[in-house]
Amino acid sequence: MTETNLYKGYKGRALEVLKHFRAEVWSEVKITTTKGEYTGIILPRSQADDPLHIVLKLRSGYNIGIAAGSVTAVEIQGRKEAHYKIPEKEFPYDPKKPRVKLLGTGGTIASRLDYRTGEVIPAFSPGELYGSVPELADICNLETEKLFGVFSENMGPEQYIGTAQAIGREIEKGVHGIVIGHGTDTMHHTAAILSFMVQNSPIPIVMVGSQRSSDRPSSDAALNLMHSVKTAAESDIAEVMVCMFGPTSDIYGLLHRGTRVRKMHSSYRSTFRTIGDIPIAMVSRDKITPLRQDYKRRRNDKNVVINTAFEEKVSIVYYYPNMKPDIIDSLIDNGYRGIVIAGTGLGHVNKPLYPALKRAQDRKIAVYMTVQTLWGYVQMYVYDTGRDMMELGVIPGANMLPEVAYVKLAWVLGQTNDLDEVMKMMLTPIAGETTEREPSNGYLIFQGGVPEVEEFISKYRK
Ligand code: ASP
Repeated sequence: MTETNLYKGYKGRALEVLKHFRAEVWSEVKITTTKGEYTGIILPRSQADDPLHIVLKLRSGYNIGIAAGSVTAVEIQGRKEAHYKIPEKEFPYDPKKPRVKLLGTGGTIASRLDYRTGEVIPAFSPGELYGSVPELADICNLETEKLFGVFSENMGPEQYIGTAQAIGREIEKGVHGIVIGHGTDTMHHTAAILSFMVQNSPIPIVMVGSQRSSDRPSSDAALNLMHSVKTAAESDIAEVMVCMFGPTSDIYGLLHRGTRVRKMHSSYRSTFRTIGDIPIAMVSRDKITPLRQDYKRRRNDKNVVINTAFEEKVSIVYYYPNMKPDIIDSLIDNGYRGIVIAGTGLGHVNKPLYPALKRAQDRKIAVYMTVQTLWGYVQMYVYDTGRDMMELGVIPGANMLPEVAYVKLAWVLGQTNDLDEVMKMMLTPIAGETTEREPSNGYLIFQGGVPEVEEFISKYRK
């Protein structure tokens, strides 16, 4: 075997350490470091990876990166080469089944590590998906299209517009439902903007991602995919939704309205939560159970309206005590046309910001208030601060989530400069982004218990 194959992808310090201890890619090793001992298999790396880490697949199935500089000893125990390849099988066609289109934008759900090469590659063609999740063929005829291949922090107006247009094209072609594979980190931004850009959809539009990639034992990718494809194919909910794990275990998934959902945990699989309301429905492998009735129903027409307006000069400002007015001033000086503030409590900022808010008002910049508590409404009539700010032109954004208010303001300012019109559009709900009231069970309820916590509490609650 050539040296490149023995050390596939390793370079720099990491390569030196491997050579020094005569360990190769696929060696089963016990690595002792200054921080502890790790036992596992040395995985290949891709050319783009950094030269400082050795990647080990632990017995638990998790991959970890070990800083090469911290390695003090490597004991070689054997060799285990993985030939990890998803079998490509032709996706069966059944004329009686609904047509579902899966549009890929990227994120963890679209990628897996190819253990032969060390590259992160998309697992995406219908054949590959069928090879890894054959249950999909029991539900629908699946077609796939990769729109983008980005981690979701790189999503932006270009991708929002491209996705909205692709949705329009697919509805025109007569598909029965659309699934959008997306990175989870900013899935709620995209779900919100698509809820505004795609009006009056006749079919379900289901966003899905995964917190753990499909090469990990605890991956949520397959189940999320099944749930989302089932929703797209069979549900009568014609809205933009996010479909992800409900509880931390794989008992069921939840369907969240695109404008009321938020990623709330950096690593749990049950990371998405409907905020200030209850989710639209639960979904399991065999059924979809609505939790409410006020959703838009599936129709047989193609009368979707795609409106891809987006003003990029809009920002969110997350207020913190002692914030200085220069933050707002710099937005004004840089030509921003809209600012969403995530204020404290009922929607407050400190007095030193007032002169900057006055400048924004004079320059006809649209300024909207939301709450950093996430749950609850902006209420600017309760304290003097709120009333003062309203005089300075700050408009209360009801219970719109900060990110939702941000994308809506960008969408609205993309259509008009008239601030009265902007206000009318901002405060008229068009996709459930503001609601009349928060139901008493809208505070975490119906969102899947945390089994670990339930178990812990049950020991004490006799
Ligand atoms: N960083 C990734 C992303 O949002 C995480 C994920 O896919 O879940 O694209």
